[in-house]
Amino acid sequence: MTDRKTELAENLARVEERIASACAAAGREREDVTLIVVTKTYPASDVRLLHELGVRHVAENKDQDAAPKAAACADLDLTWHFVGQLQTNKARSVAGYAHVVQSVDRLKLVSALSSAAGRAGRELDCLIQVALDAESGERGARGGVAPEGIEELADAVEAAPGLRLGGLMTVAPLTGPYAGRQRAAFDRLMELASRLRVTRPAANMVSAGMSADLEDAVAAGATHVRIGTAVLGVRPRLG
Ligand SMILES: *Cc1c(COP(=O)(O)O)cnc(C)c1O
Repeated sequence: MTDRKTELAENLARVEERIASACAAAGREREDVTLIVVTKTYPASDVRLLHELGVRHVAENKDQDAAPKAAACADLDLTWHFVGQLQTNKARSVAGYAHVVQSVDRLKLVSALSSAAGRAGRELDCLIQVALDAESGERGARGGVAPEGIEELADAVEAAPGLRLGGLMTVAPLTGPYAGRQRAAFDRLMELASRLRVTRPAANMVSAGMSADLEDAVAAGATHVRIGTAVLGVRPRLG
């Protein structure tokens, strides 16, 4: 193996061990949690190595980086997740390669993604990004809709051709009542997700947890964790 592949394999093994321990501690099955590796700022060659090491879900947060990377890896059976704040004028590009858009947080984006999916002849799974630092009616500092806005967006996604409602996503907030309280934040997300599932049982994805707080997310009940740094290393630039 190349040095980089060895490094990635070791990091992946450590992350796998953390997820397995967190599942065991929570009395959950390991297969109930999907690892998504966040490859932002890292090259397509790393995506390729990760695929060789068994990774099947990758995530990106900027269309201008993601689009060429996804194109360079189009021969691989990967599920691409888009997890960044998304401008409507990028919807068309993102709908060309993403399978899951985890950062749906406003009605305009729902209609942009729906027409883009239609044009591309593709179906997109959409997660509503919840901002736990946002007051009612506002959007969060890192994107996301306030909890009060979830229902309206869920209705819109369900009614939109080409889009499927997958569930909810959050990023642990840096400000507000949940700042520094990841477990409480993820418990709150689970509560909102359970409420959503009462009338929409298929919307069963709960995406939470990053390198620093994946144990809290698994304990709370997350179905998907998004891990960057712990697999690929500290990013060379902010992304
Ligand atoms: C970068 C990013 C992650 C991964 O964060 P790490 O701390 O590097 O694991 C997860 N989710 C989103 C939305 C991100 O932008």
